[in-house]
Amino acid sequence: MKAKKSLGQNFLIDKNVISKIVTEVLVCNDDLIIEIGPGQGALTKKLKEYNASLICYEIDKDLSGILGNLEDDKTKVIWQDFLKSNIKDDIKNIKYNKLFIVGNLPYYITTPIIEHIMASNINFEKLVIMVQKEVADRFLARPHSKEYGYITVVLNYFFDISKVTDVSKYAFNPVPKVESTVLRLIPKSNKERIDFDKYKEFLKMCFRQKRKTLKNNLSDYNWETIKEILDKYDLKENVRAEELNEKIFIDIFQKIKPRKNS
Ligand code: SAM
Repeated sequence: MKAKKSLGQNFLIDKNVISKIVTEVLVCNDDLIIEIGPGQGALTKKLKEYNASLICYEIDKDLSGILGNLEDDKTKVIWQDFLKSNIKDDIKNIKYNKLFIVGNLPYYITTPIIEHIMASNINFEKLVIMVQKEVADRFLARPHSKEYGYITVVLNYFFDISKVTDVSKYAFNPVPKVESTVLRLIPKSNKERIDFDKYKEFLKMCFRQKRKTLKNNLSDYNWETIKEILDKYDLKENVRAEELNEKIFIDIFQKIKPRKNS
């Protein structure tokens, strides 16, 4: 079958990489795996060996000839755009112990996929996801680096993120233009309890203009309160958002109030 570029169809062919991803989701037969974008089933076939329940979301019905053959009592394909799925509803009749999520999807929807999973409010152990290498660098970035930004802070509020492996473009057929990285994202159990939507808005403001100081970007907020917090961390008044770690962002967010009605 001809791979569809519009659906980001670059199928994994490297057995070593497949094995590394599958080993990341060490599951028992009473667990559940959700696979997003199974394609021709390179990962699905190996994941099935765990004999756990397996739910796959695949948008391209033309793959039913290949992928449909993998369906059985414990493996089900949902032929749907994952971004439009109601995960909670789809898994409500499955009895399982732990839930793991695996995904190798088009890179242009990496962030929407993760946001969809976060918004679905399901409890899971781990998300193993293939992303473009540059995107992985942003997710893994630390303060003071040029890769550190809004998405880093948002995702690191929710997850402990680490690298499983880098993946050469030659691990795929057809060969994509970019290099890839497999990441593991483990939901944090000890998150600060905050209004996440408001926190995201606040972070957007902090990183609004990357080259400007925090003071400039947060001109709608009471600077005296922010300055007190910066002093506590020995930070100067002309600090930029990219120099703050997650703890400081949360500290500021919990204390500040907008100066104007914005
Ligand atoms: N997992 C397979 C592999 O590793 O060989 C296929 C990976 S391929 C990069 C991405 C797969 O995601 C394709 O099969 C594509 O049709 C599917 N896909 C693309 N957009 C999707 C979406 N919104 N929801 C579900 N599947 C999607």
